[in-house]
Amino acid sequence: MIPKPPSTRKSDNQPLAMSISPPSATARLRLDSAALIANWHLLNRLSGAAQAGAAVKANGYGLGAVPVVERLLAAGCRDFFVANWQEADEIAPLTNGVAAVSVLNGVRESDMAYAQQSLAKPVLNSPEQVARWAATGKNCDIMINSGMNRLGINVEHLAGLDLGRLDIDMVMSHLASADEDIAQNEQQLMQYRQALEIVGGKRRSLANSAAIALGPDYHFDVTRPGIALYGGKQRAAHAAIRQVAYPQAEILQVRSLAAGDRLGYNGQYTADHPHDIAILAMGYADGYLRCFSNIGMFKGADCDLPVLGRVSMDLIAVDLSKAPDLKEGDQVECSYDLAQTAALSGLSQYELITGLGQRLSRDWD
Ligand SMILES: *Cc1c(COP(=O)(O)O)cnc(C)c1O
Repeated sequence: MIPKPPSTRKSDNQPLAMSISPPSATARLRLDSAALIANWHLLNRLSGAAQAGAAVKANGYGLGAVPVVERLLAAGCRDFFVANWQEADEIAPLTNGVAAVSVLNGVRESDMAYAQQSLAKPVLNSPEQVARWAATGKNCDIMINSGMNRLGINVEHLAGLDLGRLDIDMVMSHLASADEDIAQNEQQLMQYRQALEIVGGKRRSLANSAAIALGPDYHFDVTRPGIALYGGKQRAAHAAIRQVAYPQAEILQVRSLAAGDRLGYNGQYTADHPHDIAILAMGYADGYLRCFSNIGMFKGADCDLPVLGRVSMDLIAVDLSKAPDLKEGDQVECSYDLAQTAALSGLSQYELITGLGQRLSRDWD
């Protein structure tokens, strides 16, 4: 006979599970509003006579497009750049009548019905998109390929297009190597200038975060910083950019290793002397990837807590040798300065910030 499963009925004095909200998260992303706003003001100043907009694609580089746009709107930002219409849909209602939203990936045939009634405008990237949008008579931007060969219309194709029917706000281009001092920057600038003689718009826009540091020749009317808003530093002019995102994790357990004990998957660390470690509630599923195994760093109680062994999906071990007083329930903070962490890991600053997992609660202060 099959045994009856145990009853799942709750006894009368047990509260209903439904009425209790889940406990606080064991790992979070602390987000510094003041730093985000200060970074935008700095980039706006570095943009000289141009007005700084903000690239908020990929959910505000992973930090949350809505809270980022709310803060930058209040700071005075008036142009936002997203990748697609789903992203535009999230933020356009916030900007209604005050700021513009540009959709960088352009407008497909299947986007047309939505795009025409959207508060956002497409960035037209090809002759096909120009033809598609011209009939609407609505506002748009246009992207020139000045040598990156990603999205955009080649300069030599501009003359053959019926641009007169378009209501063009920004004429844009994008630099491939603004974070390097190479001749391609100037070559792209020259190509862009040639395009500006053929296609007129209300405003001109070329520079991303790194290109803002290339000086006034690159500023035009609107700049489009992204990574530097969120703490990325690629050039000396970015020195005063502040860190915005701080991953934090709770200590779930403290344990003592004896000499010879192997730690974690595949024993990627072996203790050569007795010492304590802490197990943290964070892992590669949170975007803290396995490349940080044995090289990453956390901070707690003003002490360094080096990552030991392999990063697991949901757990990381750190060395408590320098911080013997840390205990279960304490919060520790990941060392996550984007430039330094990129140099340490080989990941780009962009990957480090956009890859932070959705399981981390986003806590803005
Ligand atoms: C992403 C993007 C930006 C922002 O670049 P950062 O390097 O993050 O400052 C600007 N313009 C275009 C077209 C982009 O795709």
